[in-house]
Amino acid sequence: MTAHTKLMTLGAALQKAARNTLEDGWIFLRDREPNTESECLLVYGAPDDSPIAAERGFILEGLDTATLEDSADWCTQFEDEPSMELLLEAFLYYWKHDAWLPHPGAAEPASQEEVERLQAIEFNELLGTERTTVQCKVPRCERGAIVNSSLCRKHHFEAIQKRPYTE
Ligand SMILES: [Zn+2]
Repeated sequence: MTAHTKLMTLGAALQKAARNTLEDGWIFLRDREPNTESECLLVYGAPDDSPIAAERGFILEGLDTATLEDSADWCTQFEDEPSMELLLEAFLYYWKHDAWLPHPGAAEPASQEEVERLQAIEFNELLGTERTTVQCKVPRCERGAIVNSSLCRKHHFEAIQKRPYTE
């Protein structure tokens, strides 16, 4: 196989992919936060482990042409003729998060930890306050039971959520 490279802006690569005219290869980048004017190197006809891009300073593996085309396709549900900005946004989202852009202007996806933290807060609010007149039924627990439960907030939470409770 003979390796070929083409230097272009990321914007040009995204637009070519949208028109299905980008050669079948991979793009490589230098910049972790590229914009449409950032240079990228298209490598095609090269084996997967080719150092050709890195040797030229493009140390970040971008996406392959097929994924760029799919991403551009995906964008047509938001805009008939996806703008360069939208193509870039969808590219960055897929590149960083390995997922299709949910919608233009989408926030970064929450991490699993963040999701659990938010669920815990929500659940915590549902629990309500502990009663002073009814004690939690867990032996040696000195907390009061919440309304509609024989358990305190902590023990009720842990019984339902199956994970440790944090105030
Ligand atoms: Zn308890």
